[in-house]
This record gives sequence, structure tokens and C-alpha cells, in this order.
Amino acid sequence: MNKERKNFQDKCAVFGIWNDPEAAWMTYLGLYAQQHRGQEGAGIVSLHKGRHLIHRGSGLVGEVFNERVLKKLKGSAAIGHTRYSTQGGDKKKNIQPLTSALSTGPLAVSHNGNIVNFPHLKKDLMNKGSIFYSSSDTECLIHLLAQEKGELEKALIKCLPLLEGAYSLTLLTKDSLIAARDPMGFRPLVLGQRKWKDEQGEENISWVVASETCTFDLIGAKLVREIEPGEIWIVDKERGECSLFLQKKKTLHQCVFEHVYFARPDSQVFGKNVYQSRKAMGRFLAKESQVQADLVIPVPDSGVPAAIGYSEASGIPYDMGIVRNHYIGRTFIHPSQSIRDFKVKIKLSAQRKLIAGKKVVVVDDSLVRGTTSKSVVKMLRQAGAKEIHFRVSSPPITGPCFYGVDTPEKSELIASKMSVEEIKNYLQVDSLSFLSTEGLMRAVQEDQEDLQVEKSKTQREKGFCSACFTGDYPTAIS
Ligand code: AMP
Repeated sequence: MNKERKNFQDKCAVFGIWNDPEAAWMTYLGLYAQQHRGQEGAGIVSLHKGRHLIHRGSGLVGEVFNERVLKKLKGSAAIGHTRYSTQGGDKKKNIQPLTSALSTGPLAVSHNGNIVNFPHLKKDLMNKGSIFYSSSDTECLIHLLAQEKGELEKALIKCLPLLEGAYSLTLLTKDSLIAARDPMGFRPLVLGQRKWKDEQGEENISWVVASETCTFDLIGAKLVREIEPGEIWIVDKERGECSLFLQKKKTLHQCVFEHVYFARPDSQVFGKNVYQSRKAMGRFLAKESQVQADLVIPVPDSGVPAAIGYSEASGIPYDMGIVRNHYIGRTFIHPSQSIRDFKVKIKLSAQRKLIAGKKVVVVDDSLVRGTTSKSVVKMLRQAGAKEIHFRVSSPPITGPCFYGVDTPEKSELIASKMSVEEIKNYLQVDSLSFLSTEGLMRAVQEDQEDLQVEKSKTQREKGFCSACFTGDYPTAIS
């Protein structure tokens, strides 16, 4: 794998708002609701009298912004971004929205996803004289647009097809808000409307774009629809809103891992409620791998909905056998291994009273390196569990994601090195089962009102990217 590429595993959130008297504040709230998509840095760019006002910083949304900063971000339009940590060098320069001055005026860009042909594009652009400021793949788009003459919309129609891979974008210009999504639809992007009253009591409407619908619930916006894969949606004062379309792809490759782990459970992603699909994953898992046990316990928080589903389908009682400490922050770094080993124990703790002498089914959403599960099993043994049956509500992860989810390199993924039997022995559990790929696809596609799924519904399987489980990458990887 290209070394440069490994530095750009961006789990991120984007946001944009148009025609709102509290644009920066709404963006701040929108980023807060999407903090789970990136904790490394955050930024907001607002539009005030044709100029961009910018604030970006390292850390959590609540650390980067305060009242004084938000008051300075004047204007009735803004975009924002939260960024996940990269292994790249100068992290501060990569914090988005990226800003630049084009011949058409100021441009700010927020991007969620990964451009897989970034190394080639960057090399080409540099050969033609582009000078890169950051090491972010997103900057390629800015240089491509800078080379085009004339209207930005026409430039986007020309340049976006040059990008391969995943992009859900919000862009702010001197007089418009733009949202765009790659034709395969890897990452979510949704459009909403928010009502507000002006000083005369007249009702007005602002347009909102976000990675996840949970932002709309927070700021009181109504979900209008998804930005379609291949759509460029534009709103400005002169024309109102309109859409342009890139050439459509026959098959979509929406990231199934959004439903497994990444998105917030209260969001609606690719038209389905995430909590419901996670519960369905647990139900299918129970059907595929029944076991005699006394208790179903989740690895909190990510394993909770699937464990509830498992309990419902198996009839085995559910309980919070593991408690999570919510105050440990993002990272727990210590130079010595002996202290680092406390990492999972600081976050999770087993409830001896519930577990001692019991046969337990432990449900987590995914197994990556196997570090969490190994510690959880040890913890449950120490708490007196009689039998431990580990259940994972997704298939074994055998390859990295190149489209915007931060997964380690293949060599670090436990399921790329070991068979299910070997992982079972490594974890020292009485049994281990993963949800099948078919079960996962059925869970994310089933009618959420009627959970009796027919086999024929799996035909739409190609609507999702499941490359991290199947190795079936929908684009070339350079
Ligand atoms: P591991 O201990 O490496 O096997 O990681 C498994 C845990 O990490 C599970 O509890 C998942 O909820 C969580 N997880 C899965 N994917 C990711 C990701 N891309 N970034 C951070 N955590 C993740």
C-alpha cells in the first residue's frame, strides 16, 4: 500500500447551513452532535459580506470553540468539520474546512471520505506547478478547481469525476453553499430544513446539510432527503436551490460499516434507522449462532443494540454485565506497556454480582485487533463467568477501509491472520461466532416495520460496500 495513503484514513463529519441568523452556532451544535465521527480537530468557516471568517483548532468541538469565538464567526451561512486523528505529520494544517482564494473568490471545503487516487493526482498537480499547503487528500480538489476558469459549478462538474473514491462534501463560496456526494455514495450526506422567526415574527427557512440526521434532531431541523450519490446541490440568494448531477453509477457502494459501528444509533443512514439495523444484526446473529446461556451482555456502548436484538431473538435475558466509564477521554497514552494494559479496564468494568457462576453471551459490534475482546474476556473470567460465548454482530474484518473508516493495516487485523477457531483459542472463550455477510446485508436492508425477511431481499446486496469484510473493493487501490 502506498505509504502516503495510510496517513489519510479520515473518519470525519461535515456540516453546512444557509440562511440562518445563528449559522455559526448551529454549525457548532451540528459538529457537537457528530463528535463521534472525529475527535482530532474541528473547524467552522462562516460567510459574512462576501468574506470568509475562519476558526479551526485541535481537539474536541467543546475545546476548540467558545462563546467569544462563535460571536466572531458572523454571517448567515457556514460550514464545519470534525476530523479524526491521522498518522500524518503536521496535523494542524489538515484541520478542515480547508480554505483558499480562487479566481472566483474564497472557497472553503469540508470533506468526509478518502480519495483513493490522491497520490497520482497530487503528483500530477505538483508536476504542473501546484504547491500543496497540507498533506490532506481534500486539497487535491482545491488545486483541480483552481486550474479551471469560469464558474465554480462548471468546474465541479469537470473536476469531481477526476476524484476516485469517497467524498461527501460541503463547500462555501462567496455567495453559495454547495453539497456534493460521490457517485457510489460511500458516505452519508443528508439535506434538511430549519424554521426560524425573524424580528417581525415572519417565518423563514434555513437549509442544512450534514453527515448524519442526529444533527437535525439537535437543531430542530426536518430531514428533507439524502443528497443523492453523484449529486451536486447548490443554494444561493439569486436562484434558491438547484441540483446538478454527475454521471450516475449503476451500483451504489454505501458503507455498511456506518450501520455496524460508525454512525450514531439515533441517525437515519442510507434511509434506515441505525439502531434498528443494529438490533436486527443481533437478531440474525442469534438465529445463526444459538447457544444455551443464562445472560446476554453487551460490550458497551457499541454492542448494546445488537445485544438487545440477540436477547430478543434467543429469549436469553439481557443485562448490563459490563459498565462503561464515560469520562476517560479519547486516548490513554502511557509509555510503559504495564500501564497501557489498564486501558480497557479503565473504560470497561465487569459486574461480578451479575456474572459470577453464569454462562454468558457477550456481544460486540466488531472485532478489529482483538485487544478489547481479549481484555473483556479476561475481566469476565476474573468476575467468575462459568462459560463465555463471544458473539460479534458483523463478519470478520479482513481488510482495511480505503474509503474513510479508520481501520488498521491488514497485518494488524486479527481476522486477517487467524481463522475463527484460532481467534476463539486466542481469546480463550468457550465459543465464538461472527454474523455472516448475508446476515449483515439482510439486517441493513430489511423492512424495519416487518422483520420477517425473505431471502430474495438480499438481491440488493450490491448497494453496499462491504470490502473490509469481503475484500471486494469497488475501486482500484493504488
Ligand atoms: P479491537 O479491540 O481492536 O478488536 O477493537 C474492537 C472494538 O473497537 C469494538 O468494540 C468496536 O466497537 C470498536 N471499533 C470498531 N471499528 C472501529 C474504528 N474504526 N475505530 C475505532 N473503534 C472501532
